[in-house]
Amino acid sequence: MEFIYLDHNATTPVDPEVVEAMLHQLKENYGNASSVHSSGRDAKVALENSREQIAEFINCEPSELYFTSGGTESDNLAILGAAYQLKSRCDHLIVGATEHHAVLEPAEYLHEKEGFKLDLLPVDSDGISSPEKLAELINDKIAIVSVMQANNETGAIQDIAALTNITKEKGILFHTDAVQATGKIKVDVKELGVDLLSLTGHKIYGPKGTGALYIKQGVKIAPLFYGGSHEKKRRPGTENIAGVVGLAKALEIAGKRMEQDYKMHKELSRYFIEKVTTLIPDVHFNGPREKRVMPTMNLSFCGIEGESILLSLDMEGVACSSGSACTSGATEPSHVLDAMGMDKVDAQGAIRFSMGRSTTKEQLDYVIEKLPPIVERLREMSPIYRSKAK
Ligand SMILES: *Cc1c(COP(=O)(O)O)cnc(C)c1O
Repeated sequence: MEFIYLDHNATTPVDPEVVEAMLHQLKENYGNASSVHSSGRDAKVALENSREQIAEFINCEPSELYFTSGGTESDNLAILGAAYQLKSRCDHLIVGATEHHAVLEPAEYLHEKEGFKLDLLPVDSDGISSPEKLAELINDKIAIVSVMQANNETGAIQDIAALTNITKEKGILFHTDAVQATGKIKVDVKELGVDLLSLTGHKIYGPKGTGALYIKQGVKIAPLFYGGSHEKKRRPGTENIAGVVGLAKALEIAGKRMEQDYKMHKELSRYFIEKVTTLIPDVHFNGPREKRVMPTMNLSFCGIEGESILLSLDMEGVACSSGSACTSGATEPSHVLDAMGMDKVDAQGAIRFSMGRSTTKEQLDYVIEKLPPIVERLREMSPIYRSKAK
């Protein structure tokens, strides 16, 4: 049985070219970038070359890019760092209602334990926030606003430039989690108008445990770690140079393929959604049809548990996700679909299929063939579905 991986939003395989670049780094160039001898200098050159490459990819200066252990750390550093830095005059935060837990949890921590007020920026039924709603919530005590560029569960793309227009006038810091946008759509810090931006390697065919935070020149945030003077003391700790080299290589490849991948995923997703929604009754597509990163397809199968579909598909060799990867195992319906105003029963039946570079029409056809009998069998056993259908 062929293994069909449709969970690329959880993580991607590492591109063989990335592996090669990292292996070279690990075997031949293992120096510590802080050392003064030639091995250290060579490592430092690899580190700074990667920094330049990644900076160019998001259109910032190399000096504005700080390496971290991934998306979670970058998000935490942005939110907690801004809050701690501005604590004496700002005690209020705004974060998007559909943010990843790596943004929601530090914001909730600041709210519950550190006395910050917290507002969640609402979204419409497509999962998009409006600048008008943000303008209503803004006041002069806001330390930071954080809204993601693309959502991990639905793929919804926010109009970050319209949102930063509101905060810019008031001099309020704006952070965006660009983890799911990177490599799929253009990520340009100047066009977006953001002060802080998070990205990670393992969602774009790079290594796990490597990411970066863009901090705009002049923006001050408090560090979370103390130690050496790495990353200008904003993130001390010996740099993961092989990881950083891998991240740079992954972005280089993504930059070259982005347009072609986008077109391919747009066609495949149109085909898949059309087939599934015609072959199976009572299926909703969740999120915006057009304004989303195309590999992400979130569908609700009314009256049954997404978790049961996922397990049945797994037995057929298909990997996908219900809700976000981080909440799998919990029976709570997704906070993302809840914020979009979705009925709890429909939200329970949500499945996220996320395609990648290796996804083919033949693979999708296999899923299209296997899904209807699975859904039918589960619905036969579902009292909720039978009562709804009557
Ligand atoms: C995966 C993900 C993260 C977390 O990134 P890690 O590198 O796994 O820590 C943060 N935000 C979004 C939107 C994600 O999809």
